[in-house]
Amino acid sequence: VLTARAVTRSFGPAVVLAGVDLTIAAGETVALLGGSGSGKSTLLRVLAGLDGDAGGEHAVHGTAAVVFQEHRLLPWKRVADNVALGLAGPDVSDRVGRALAEVGLADRGRAWPAELSGGQAQRVAVARALVREPDLLLLDEPFGALDALTRLRMQGLLRRLRAQHGFAALLVTHDVEEALLLADRVLLLDDGVIAEEVAVGLGPAPSPDDPALGALRRHL
Ligand code: ATP
Ligand code: MG
Repeated sequence: VLTARAVTRSFGPAVVLAGVDLTIAAGETVALLGGSGSGKSTLLRVLAGLDGDAGGEHAVHGTAAVVFQEHRLLPWKRVADNVALGLAGPDVSDRVGRALAEVGLADRGRAWPAELSGGQAQRVAVARALVREPDLLLLDEPFGALDALTRLRMQGLLRRLRAQHGFAALLVTHDVEEALLLADRVLLLDDGVIAEEVAVGLGPAPSPDDPALGALRRHL
């Protein structure tokens, strides 16, 4: 559902992405770890088609939708109108209603973003992505700003939605446990390239003292 080859991106003299190769199969969840400033958000923006100045090749086969770390809801639009943003057609309000119901916010469509908790706002952001019926979700530390319990609930929500809808996902996270919980494969972005790769979903989960996990942890 996604192929990227030799993706590069520099800001002035600073080379942030030095040739990233990445393939994501339909329905697969890939976690992307990397230290702060390693270029995770930059890569996500490139793959989402939001950065025209990158080198290399990348293509999404199907529809991609992005969930950013901050919910990025428009404060002057009600929740339902935020979810409906950019959509057209007679069935938009039905689709928006269904998406909000799926994230447990069926009754909050007429609320303003400022009236929501952080976790609720992030669920609206997930609904806004979901309503586009994506083949690929690009998630940039979507739960990073949430408390531990809300984060756990959101992880459960993501798993449930993925099982129902079958979308693939690229999940940027700082959290090794979250990566192991949610992903089929864990990648480490370091020095502008994919420096490590650990398969998780196939076979038994790696033990906590697995050397590959140690390599991931050392970089965080
Ligand atoms: P974090 O984990 O803190 O979110 P990250 O891995 O997402 O970090 P990026 O936001 O991709 O890191 O940034 C990678 C590098 O690129 C940083 O050094 C950052 O300063 C630089 N950078 C990102 N966007 C720009 C920009 N628009 N102009 C100049 N430099 C930028
Ligand atoms: Mg980032």
